Amino acid sequence: MSYDVVIIGSGPGGYVCAIKAAQLGLKIAVVEKSKNFGGTCLNVGCIPSKALLHASEVYAEACRGFDALGITLSKPELKISEMMQHKQSMIAANTKGVNFLFKNNKIDSFLGSGKILESGKVEVLAKDGKKFLLETKNIVIATGAAAANIPGINIVIDENVVVSSTGALSFEKVPNTMVVIGAGVIGSELGLVWRRLGAKVIIIEFLDKVLSTMDVELSRKFQKFMENQGIIYKLGTKVTEIVKSGAGAIVSFEPVTGGKTEQVATDVVLIAVGRRPFIEGLGLQAAGVVLDKHGRISIDRRWHTNISGIYAIGDVVGGTMLAHKAEEEGIAVAEILAGQAGHVNFDVIPSVVYTQPEVASIGKTEEELKADGVTYKVGKCSFTANSRARAMRRTDGFVKILACAKTDRVLGGHIVGFGASEMIHELAVLMAFSGSSEDLGRLCHAHPTMSETIRESAFAIFSKPIHI
Ligand code: NAD
Repeated sequence: MSYDVVIIGSGPGGYVCAIKAAQLGLKIAVVEKSKNFGGTCLNVGCIPSKALLHASEVYAEACRGFDALGITLSKPELKISEMMQHKQSMIAANTKGVNFLFKNNKIDSFLGSGKILESGKVEVLAKDGKKFLLETKNIVIATGAAAANIPGINIVIDENVVVSSTGALSFEKVPNTMVVIGAGVIGSELGLVWRRLGAKVIIIEFLDKVLSTMDVELSRKFQKFMENQGIIYKLGTKVTEIVKSGAGAIVSFEPVTGGKTEQVATDVVLIAVGRRPFIEGLGLQAAGVVLDKHGRISIDRRWHTNISGIYAIGDVVGGTMLAHKAEEEGIAVAEILAGQAGHVNFDVIPSVVYTQPEVASIGKTEEELKADGVTYKVGKCSFTANSRARAMRRTDGFVKILACAKTDRVLGGHIVGFGASEMIHELAVLMAFSGSSEDLGRLCHAHPTMSETIRESAFAIFSKPIHI
């Protein structure tokens, strides 16, 4: 069988690349080693976690009650196996959707492990043990990432007691106690899911802040909101030992700066200290594909590796490990392979944490602008000043916009609040077109909407906000 492009990996990077390349007239094959197409995102990442985040949020809200809205409920009952079925059905619907899209776009798809023999040749080891060869003009590696373990700690992730995000999406009952290591995106989202369902959740973080890449002001506010929901943080703290004990584990930890070691007995431990590029079994060394010092595949500005006809996108290359960043790279590479100009604007990739309130961020943080020596203006507005937020009792959080002091061009936008994941795209469009705070502030916003807080923040930069 001969193709224009063979794509190894069918996550958001790989499957989107396949569809776009097929739409552009190329003959495509996709090889996927898991039992389903869709990668981490659809099977054990973004989609199942959002299914549980939504269900657990509704449950927690119902438990708190709606008295303030004039609605009285009897105490809700949690049926964890049915909540898990909801999650499974979302996975099934989405992965089936990818199958359908492959068929619709005449893409050949193979379940099996892909190994690069040399440029132009991919060997597939199918699930039934048979091997066959795919010949191709180009190969795109889109094999994603796997959970990283804690360096220096001798513990195996068994996905039962000591889990990665994969295991934390499938507990059969609510743990009494859950220790989460890492206060990043996974630790925050999955820690909150199990906290809402009733677990005592302790998050241990090496650094002195949560969501460490976010704007510090946002991160501090977010921490408070999480603490208000019962999350216990141990910041500036390192784990020194994890020992399995009975049906659970004992986690030992101490301050990074030195001091007394503490221990906590827990039912489960979620290790969420980042992810590493997944390149095992791809035959990269034999094929001569060069890695960088972080173990990621080295690429040029057109996602081309050092070997002719071999490209790489998504979590296996540098940059943020985000499904939508991988998708953008997949589209760009498909366009390049079809003879077009593929491009990604890495300055306007939004980051979202799907907690409640949500966190969404784009462009530079205040700390980054200071480090770069850029003079900037800050416009901020709290949702307490927004009538829609008040009507919905969703006043937690604020919008913060950063604009260049000389040109007024918006350089960064940061939101913590209800609906932040949707609102951030207004700032993305503005920034993609190099817009200014005045462009944003002079745009009529529907009233009453949460988005008016973005407008007010823009007003706070170039003029004065109306409502504060
Ligand atoms: P992360 O990089 O977001 O956070 C890991 C955290 O662990 C950091 O704060 C780090 O300081 C801390 N840490 C590292 N070593 C530690 C140690 N020994 N002890 C205590 N803390 C330690 O990583 P993640 O949360 O595992 O997520 C992995 C990737 O998946 C990220 O790139 C993330 O963006 C992506 N992801 C994104 C979403 C989303 O977009 N909503 C959701 C889940 C995952």
